[in-house]
Amino acid sequence: MSEDDDALRVVNAKRREQMQRSADHYGQFLDQAEDYLHGKRGITVEEGRSYGLGYVPAGEALDGDEQYVGRLVIPYRTRNGVVQLKYRCTGDHDNCKKITLLSTDPDTGKEKWDGHEKYMQPAGVDPSLYNVEAFHADSSVIIVTEGEADAMAVELRTGLPAVGYPGVGLWASRKFRHWRLCFDPYTTVYIIADGDEPGRSSAKRLLKDLQNGIPVYMPDGHDATSYLMEYGTDALLDKLGYGVDYDDIPDDEDDDEDLPDFD
Ligand SMILES: [Zn+2]
Repeated sequence: MSEDDDALRVVNAKRREQMQRSADHYGQFLDQAEDYLHGKRGITVEEGRSYGLGYVPAGEALDGDEQYVGRLVIPYRTRNGVVQLKYRCTGDHDNCKKITLLSTDPDTGKEKWDGHEKYMQPAGVDPSLYNVEAFHADSSVIIVTEGEADAMAVELRTGLPAVGYPGVGLWASRKFRHWRLCFDPYTTVYIIADGDEPGRSSAKRLLKDLQNGIPVYMPDGHDATSYLMEYGTDALLDKLGYGVDYDDIPDDEDDDEDLPDFD
């Protein structure tokens, strides 16, 4: 090992300690995020605690964390501690980057907006799969969703282990090719597809890498959380039970037709 590697390891270990400390500290204040957590995500404070969620109230931000005030804290927990930490906006914003229109250029029509990131996180931390604890569950099936909130909601309601991936770009990237291998041992991987074009095409990409994958398409405009909140757990379980709802598969999912028929 080079000295550089050693130095990197020290920095990394320190960062993880810090993230663990932050998660522990902000976890005390989760009840202050109840309106958001329960109202918008259908998750009770008690359930949120089981995932180590937290909240950053004004006056309780740790040194250097002032920019996280008012945000939900989502630790990526492993058996060896927190490996990533996300701070999610809990404001009632359709688009966090476009909150206040500052000006519109009269010539070009170009708009200037004031806003912020929906998610923030400490610098220098690599992306991870969310809720890798799910891989320890005694189960032949597992569910994969886009993002943390859906993984929590689906796992809480169905009782089946669920893991969140942080977007199809990262999933498909060379650096994180190993993620797909984590799903290899399962009989079935249910891939929840959000009810829009990006959601369906992301699911399709995962399906390409997971031969044990079954896509579960949410109706238009729904993700797993909104589906659960509107239709309930039984409806989602029903969807999982049937696996593929053939009517919902986009028409271009016809790759197999090019295969020659066997006599
Ligand atoms: Zn926001």
